Amino acid sequence: QAKSGTDNVVMFNPTMHQSLVIRHAIEDDIRNALKDKRFEIWLQNQMDNTGTAVSAEALVRLRKRDGGITAPSEFISIAEASGLIVPLGRWILQEACSILRQIGSNRPDYGISVNVSPQQFYAPNFASDVLTTLDHFGVTPGNLTLEITENLLVQEITETSKIMGRLADRGVRFSVDDFGTGYSNLHYLSQLPIKELKIDRGFISQIPEDTSSIAIVETIFAMARRLDLDVVAEGVEKNVQFSFLKNFGQMRMQGFYFAKPMETKTWLEYHLETHST
Ligand code: C2E
Ligand code: CA
Ligand code: CA
Ligand code: CA
Repeated sequence: QAKSGTDNVVMFNPTMHQSLVIRHAIEDDIRNALKDKRFEIWLQNQMDNTGTAVSAEALVRLRKRDGGITAPSEFISIAEASGLIVPLGRWILQEACSILRQIGSNRPDYGISVNVSPQQFYAPNFASDVLTTLDHFGVTPGNLTLEITENLLVQEITETSKIMGRLADRGVRFSVDDFGTGYSNLHYLSQLPIKELKIDRGFISQIPEDTSSIAIVETIFAMARRLDLDVVAEGVEKNVQFSFLKNFGQMRMQGFYFAKPMETKTWLEYHLETHST
């Protein structure tokens, strides 16, 4: 801290100080990794009811200098708090569009979902940045889905609706991530151009043992059908969950049962090979 008055000093106990030091170290690491191009996109497939991969979620990782991988849980919140999520998020979108462009000729309907933090969504020029990136890579906007959380949707609905509207008018899809875990009422579903609900892993992992989780998933599914929204179930880990879910009707499924997140290079090799000619 800049000032060194006693008040400031007593505010920091050793634990807080240590966590501040760690946060600063991670912030530096994010800044350096952006410069050194040490961020990577990994892709996790999403399957339709028949178990065929039809889309994928882009998940960011940080490559350490020693070759190891840092998970997003260790740096996303720090990137958000420091504002570094804006340049990082812009890079992630560019990578996702570059990947869409590369598979476009083989799989013209393949979709990619990208996570968007609130700090990034409300940053100046977010909508025009996304549109410029789509144009630059010649990507069909309908192949890009932006995943946002309910917490974002209940903030400043007028502003949210303006930004989402600009993108949705061009065909960009919006998905509500971790659906069912937020505090919000569902009013936003009728006000915003949402295309998809992503049922949180917390409910899926309780299937088939927990009857309330089954009831919640069934209810979300019925509501989505009435509102003409797509459904994605996340965190499908077992065959019994797959069998259970596919009986509800058309939905996409994502989870370790089908595929783990893969490095872009591996994922592209697989998708360009298995579907060429
Ligand atoms: P999320 O958006 O809910 O992403 C799903 C997370 O669940 C991923 O973790 C994925 O690897 C993991 N997962 C997928 N299938 C299974 C499964 O069957 N079982 C279990 N236990 N886990 C599964 P990951 O990649 O570590 O990402 C964690 C969170 O970090 C994400 O949660 C998202 O909130 C954030 N995140 C990841 N990539 C990005 C990004 O590019 N931008 C932003 N803003 N946030 C990101
Ligand atoms: Ca997500
Ligand atoms: Ca999620
Ligand atoms: Ca989550």
